[in-house]
Amino acid sequence: MNLDRSLNSLFVVSNNFSENIDDLIRNNNEFAKSFDDSGLQAAPTMKLVVVACMDSRMDIFKLLGLENGEAHIIRNAGGVITDDVIRSVCLSQRLMGTREIVLLHHTDCGLQKVSEEKFKAELEGELGIKPRWSLETFVDPYSDTRQSMERLIVTPFVDHSHMNGFVYDTRTGELYKVEEKAK
Ligand SMILES: [Zn+2]
Repeated sequence: MNLDRSLNSLFVVSNNFSENIDDLIRNNNEFAKSFDDSGLQAAPTMKLVVVACMDSRMDIFKLLGLENGEAHIIRNAGGVITDDVIRSVCLSQRLMGTREIVLLHHTDCGLQKVSEEKFKAELEGELGIKPRWSLETFVDPYSDTRQSMERLIVTPFVDHSHMNGFVYDTRTGELYKVEEKAK
């Protein structure tokens, strides 16, 4: 499958590829030698759940100063509030006691650069079938964050009383707070 084809026009994607799995396993062997987290509990000590975009430039632990054991981190393309994210946040709150929600979207997101129609038409042309899911493309990261907040406000399955949304600036590393309603 040639996944590079449609993306090359939008992103800098090199065609060079070799599997990383050997390096990853070696890295893990090193990691395990000095492993020090065996005493951590599964329930996040900060009672915090973060929903963020999967963007490779965002180290959620680093940019929020988090440590292992402190928060649940849920990531997908865009940090979109899908049914599955609601499932995870609901479980996080009900089984693991989290109370606070932070949404992290960002500037220069891949979903700002792709056309849902074109993407799906390409899939259908190549595979004969198009997905039922939405790509959740957007133009403005601030209104997209607001959209995610609205989805958590309207779902009955999540307590949104301690919720904040932010846009992360990939050029400066700064967070910009997003108000719930457009003013
Ligand atoms: Zn993104």
